[in-house]
Amino acid sequence: MHALSGERLLQAWEQAEHQHGLQRALSMLAIALPEVEPVKLAELPIAERNRLLLQLRLISFGPTVQGYASCSHCDSAMEFSLPVEHLLSCMEAPVTSIAWEELDQRFQLRAANTLDLLATVDIADVAAAEQVLLTRCLLTHEGQDGPSTAIALEKFEQLHAASELRCALACPQCAQEAFCELDIASFLWLEVRNAALRLFSDIHTLARQYGWSESAIASMSAQRRETYLELTNA
Ligand SMILES: [Zn+2]
Repeated sequence: MHALSGERLLQAWEQAEHQHGLQRALSMLAIALPEVEPVKLAELPIAERNRLLLQLRLISFGPTVQGYASCSHCDSAMEFSLPVEHLLSCMEAPVTSIAWEELDQRFQLRAANTLDLLATVDIADVAAAEQVLLTRCLLTHEGQDGPSTAIALEKFEQLHAASELRCALACPQCAQEAFCELDIASFLWLEVRNAALRLFSDIHTLARQYGWSESAIASMSAQRRETYLELTNA
């Protein structure tokens, strides 16, 4: 896996800036993992996709995630910092399918992947979108009647609980425990976007000062770029 830095960082921003969040996650992974076919990435269960996004976060932006959340009890802003290694250890070996029996029939649901979620993005009605997801993920046998939707939905939620990154935070204002969900795809995208825009600004400054090309400046280490920028500003 390649870190999103230099030219790869600029590419990720360029490709994903106008994409849907689900596509953005795939674009970032495709640039980091050029040896993997894009369709294979789209077919990964969401928990596995999230684990790769966390690994990409670790190698691109370092070992600690810093973020903000608001307390669900008193609405105060809370700042949190989490070690990525800890989040990764919580996501080891996610469950990829769930089976149950209903009226002597056995049903099995597989974990949803990005293609399944993309198939529902244009469906405004929540129940209709859920039905599409269930139909796609249910592994039925020939001649089998479908399971009850309520039970299937419950199983679907159980199956996907593992792909959510949740952490408990103690609110500094009201001392209540609040849960915060980390949407790693959106979180990583915001970091990629900010880092890419900073890099564009550095390239702009250094290209004007020294006449170097975009690719020459983008391929420098961040340390070298900073040193030149300090000299430019001195
Ligand atoms: Zn609070």
